[in-house]
Amino acid sequence: LTYLPEQDPAVADALRQELARERDSVELIASENFTSPAVLEAVGSVLTNKYAEGYPRKRYYGGCEKVDIVEDLARDRACALFGANFANVQPHCGANANLGAYEALIELGDTVLGMSLAEGGHLTHGSPVNFSGRHYNFASYGVDPETETIDYDEVERIAKEVRPKLIVGGASAYPRIIDFERMAAIAREVGAYFMVDMAHIAGLVAAGAHPSPVPHADVVTSTSHKTLRGPRGGFILSNDEDIAKRVDKAVFPGSQGGPLMHVIAGKAVAFGEAAQPSYKEYIGQVVENAARLGQGMMDGGLRLVSGGTDNHLCLVDLTPADVTGKDAEKLLEGVGLTVNKNSIPNEPRSPFVTSGIRVGSAAATTRGFTADDFYEVGQLIAATVFNAESDAKLADIRAKVDALLAAHPLYPELDY
Ligand code: PLP
Repeated sequence: LTYLPEQDPAVADALRQELARERDSVELIASENFTSPAVLEAVGSVLTNKYAEGYPRKRYYGGCEKVDIVEDLARDRACALFGANFANVQPHCGANANLGAYEALIELGDTVLGMSLAEGGHLTHGSPVNFSGRHYNFASYGVDPETETIDYDEVERIAKEVRPKLIVGGASAYPRIIDFERMAAIAREVGAYFMVDMAHIAGLVAAGAHPSPVPHADVVTSTSHKTLRGPRGGFILSNDEDIAKRVDKAVFPGSQGGPLMHVIAGKAVAFGEAAQPSYKEYIGQVVENAARLGQGMMDGGLRLVSGGTDNHLCLVDLTPADVTGKDAEKLLEGVGLTVNKNSIPNEPRSPFVTSGIRVGSAAATTRGFTADDFYEVGQLIAATVFNAESDAKLADIRAKVDALLAAHPLYPELDY
């Protein structure tokens, strides 16, 4: 930090504390990652000064020639990375991307079919406390109670029953491959649009580690900050020119004002990084590491929802340890393992308590944790929740976590 410590020590101190927190715990929140210093630099740049309402070469402000370069780079790279014809990189976040997609495809009050929040979907897929659930008539699908995976025959049955205008695929807490081709066929069969929110798996899709929704969906929405490892933000892909125009209108002027050009620059950098061979290697490691993390937890006595993982995350049923998700989150934080509580299928507890946790491998893989490290982390998670009452055991676990962290320093180039 150069200017902040003197000018605003209170903010500088909070930044220092956050960097220390990121360095001193194993980040296992499945929706988080650590961007590169290049992305941080783009986001912390003069581009934050510029108003650029509109789109490249069609702006409502003068002086936009330079930010046009940035937005063109971001759009072109997003299209190339995901094999899409059109990209809108302006949504400020994933929720805004979904708002833009809904506005582009359907009318207020229309029926939509999405995955229920309780079984893995996102708030913006129809939760009654979210604009999606209040503005549209959402019906939901979940997972099969036995296999704990999406039952596509059941999705088809519900779709035929409720006749949605739009079907939403994608999830926030689903550890298995999603069959987008099958979901698109169901949407076609009932005359609905098909949208995929690939926020969680965008990095896997970019690297070819999860089948792409882009050839099958009318619109694909995403965040740029989870497995994709870019700055916090959203974007929308489509292949059809008419739909792309409707998406652009829905984002601006439909639901946002001036785009965050500094963040769009960060997205351009991240899309560029994700096109490199080293990123493919990284994502391969993310997937292998999630599997080893899951194995470590199972060998330690915990149960994984659906019996395992195909992607970057595991959903863990804590019932064998007789501890709630809420208590586990706190216990694990105490030993340096950052996770979030999460509902599991057929959840008997409230969303504020839960019987599960969600853990992911994207962030700790970025800081260099290996498959063996992840297996050990899985065992340490299990040991923590099974030994909640033993201060000596918890101190021993914290020491092991500290050794893992010391072996893989985070942001050594940052001097806060
Ligand atoms: N869609 C999915 C599937 C998500 O998991 C999330 C965030 O967790 C979002 C959308 C929302 O993204 P944001 O928090 O950037 O609004």
